[in-house]
Amino acid sequence: MSILADRESRLLIDGKLVAGSSGTFATINPATEETLGVAADASADDMGAAIGAARRSFDESDWSTDVELRVRCIRQLQEAMRTHVEELRELTISEVGAPRMLTAAAQLEGPVDDLSFCADTAESYQWSSDLGIASPMGIKTHRTVAREAIGVVGAITPWNFPHQINLAKIGPALAAGNTLVLKPAPDTPWAAAVLGELIVEHTDFPAGVVNIVTSSDHGVGALLSKDARVDMVSFTGSTNTGRAVMADSAATLKKVFLELGGKSAFVILDDADLAGACSMAAFTASMHAGQGCAITTRLLVPRARYDEAVEAAAATMGGLKPGDPTKPGTICGPVISARQRDRIQSYLDSAIAEGGRFACGGGRPADRDTGFFIEPTVIAGLDNSAKVAREEIFGPVLTVIAHDGDDDAVRIANDSPFGLSGTVFSPDAERANAVAARLRVGTVNINGGVWYSADMPFGGYKQSGIGREMGLAGFEEYLEIKAIATAAG
Ligand code: NAD
Repeated sequence: MSILADRESRLLIDGKLVAGSSGTFATINPATEETLGVAADASADDMGAAIGAARRSFDESDWSTDVELRVRCIRQLQEAMRTHVEELRELTISEVGAPRMLTAAAQLEGPVDDLSFCADTAESYQWSSDLGIASPMGIKTHRTVAREAIGVVGAITPWNFPHQINLAKIGPALAAGNTLVLKPAPDTPWAAAVLGELIVEHTDFPAGVVNIVTSSDHGVGALLSKDARVDMVSFTGSTNTGRAVMADSAATLKKVFLELGGKSAFVILDDADLAGACSMAAFTASMHAGQGCAITTRLLVPRARYDEAVEAAAATMGGLKPGDPTKPGTICGPVISARQRDRIQSYLDSAIAEGGRFACGGGRPADRDTGFFIEPTVIAGLDNSAKVAREEIFGPVLTVIAHDGDDDAVRIANDSPFGLSGTVFSPDAERANAVAARLRVGTVNINGGVWYSADMPFGGYKQSGIGREMGLAGFEEYLEIKAIATAAG
């Protein structure tokens, strides 16, 4: 199979690769604005067929109880992705605009490796625990707690790290025994559709267990939330869409698992190496053009050293020119679309309108007239009430905000509707830990520690989401709990 040649991707429905009933839609290279090819455009009927197939295979096959088959299929998918990794890399760079260096990590190889964790967890998981005999209400009873799959999972994903997010849902949901319909973002259909091809050609997944439905119409994804045959929706995307998913799911009271937006703080305490920490914050905010939900986009620095911090951040960020993602040294590539670029620009304009200034960047790079590029930008002169400090921009933009000590830094960091991630820098471990403990967020980096790994749960407090992805907690999101009481005579 050649992944890049002759690309007109298909849907995977009930074990077959099929065309979309609504025709096709284009997928665009965000670095060049060229049309790469087309993807199958699913209609509501196609989605209905995919849900029906997932429902049937859950209800009528032994998929949910055959752990050995599930583990084998997941390992086969992993192997197929590894075999085709170089083609997948080129696809990811061209469709997502992902810098090449990130494909060795979270943009491709990392999530493929992480499938091992899902298969290993299913293999070693204690599916049932024996609570022994007791006599509740005087009746001698043998009690067991069993864990079993929820049923049909609808997985809805965004475009920024498509492999990471697709696989962080597919892996645990299938390992836990569910069947699934994946609906990827219209901006990155191929990253998902290619999984369908690999599944059909290289794995023993029974028909209907995995269905992949690409569509240009967001409404087709919304059917997953509305359809009574779907037991759970696992959604990653913006907070506003997460609200719509939750509202749509309310009618059938299905479980919703939400990984949403963020506006995370990078807190530098007054005893830290200011220049080094600012430089790290600037580098992080520029990576993949800032299109990461957990990127720390508010830099909180001691007020007495505010100007110095702005200068240090701008020195790093100003040097990270947006570039060709195919080049090995590029850190900041394009953003995904003209719409996103224009949205980021409107945030930059709002910063000036509110009295802020750009310490570097501030708009589209003068030397790039094609591609959806935005210069890494440091915004200074605003406080935490500014629009750029409150809303998720999803671009290479860092807002520097002054704090008046540890308590004030915690207050500002937590003064956000979001609660996804945070960073604390201080050489004093006790102080750093005390601040980290008070941050209302799902992941914390202290002095450069990395929380992203297959066995670490990831997710948000507050309006950053509900539930956890990855780790054991991420696997257990996809399980129901059944308490079984047997009269013991
Ligand atoms: P989005 O919310 O616009 O779209 C996400 C997905 O939802 C897409 O597949 C889209 O087609 C689908 N969708 C849109 N409307 C829908 C509806 N009414 N019902 C069901 N599905 C619908 O997000 P995006 O612009 O693709 O991605 C960027 C956002 O994702 C950012 O806000 C970012 O923070 C967030 N994100 C969060 C995490 C996390 O784990 N917390 C990870 C990555 C991205």
